[in-house]
Amino acid sequence: MSNIPSRQHTIKNTVHLSGVGLHSGKSATISLYSAPIHSGIIFRRTDLSPPKEIKICHDKMSESPLCSKLVEEDVSIQTVEHLLSALAGKEIDNIVIELNSDEIPVMDGSASPFVFLFESAGVLEQDAPRQVLRIKKTIRIEEGDKFVALSPFDHYRLEVSIDFDHPSIHHQKIDFDFSVSAYSKQVSRARTFGMADQLEGLRQKGLALGASLKNAVGLSKEGVMNAEGLRAPDEFVRHKLLDAIGDLYVAGPIEGLYQAHKASHAMNNRLLRALFSDSSAWEWAPNLS
Ligand SMILES: [Zn+2]
Repeated sequence: MSNIPSRQHTIKNTVHLSGVGLHSGKSATISLYSAPIHSGIIFRRTDLSPPKEIKICHDKMSESPLCSKLVEEDVSIQTVEHLLSALAGKEIDNIVIELNSDEIPVMDGSASPFVFLFESAGVLEQDAPRQVLRIKKTIRIEEGDKFVALSPFDHYRLEVSIDFDHPSIHHQKIDFDFSVSAYSKQVSRARTFGMADQLEGLRQKGLALGASLKNAVGLSKEGVMNAEGLRAPDEFVRHKLLDAIGDLYVAGPIEGLYQAHKASHAMNNRLLRALFSDSSAWEWAPNLS
């Protein structure tokens, strides 16, 4: 049995949120609007004249190592993954996301502020069937000891593991059967994380300019630097799960098994490109065309 509901969703009311970009350090405001059936997820940059719209699609995601970046022609929007993860988590299909900058605010480094925003807006069921990307054949991408794979399965399940040579992390694994309530409780609050000794190098490259212990778990060589500690002992692998759910949602809701070890945003995107390049590996269900 598929655990994906059968109708499309949008939000009921317009909502706004402001914060700082993790990489740019610039403050930005996003405004979310309801959208008609079959619209998809549309970003609109209002700081450009005329405003530029980009509809989310796997072939518009660039291979950025530290965040998921949406690119069309010379316009880009970076750090979209936590917002996309929250959209997946609330099963929102149709929405317009306006922003006045080139980066989505990082908020607390998790997806939970976006989940709260959608709950404040209200989620509205729409009068159209929801199409699910059904995986029909295993597709696997490997890079040394890292891999990502999608395989046929009767619902959406994710099995994610990481290995970091750090006393607070080491090996962590999570198996997750997707549902809206499980996502909200077990996944949405997990924060992004970074090694403090790499921060200076990133900043010299113009990255992580907005990073702080307010929007990430900071790691020194000895352990966690945040005074409040972790939100879960395995918060790190939960965040990797949150990222994967966001990365995969550019393709739409999935019926299949996702497995990953030491994955990255770039590997997740290569997995989707490999999947869509093999028409025998997937189908839309139900097929409305
Ligand atoms: Zn992340």
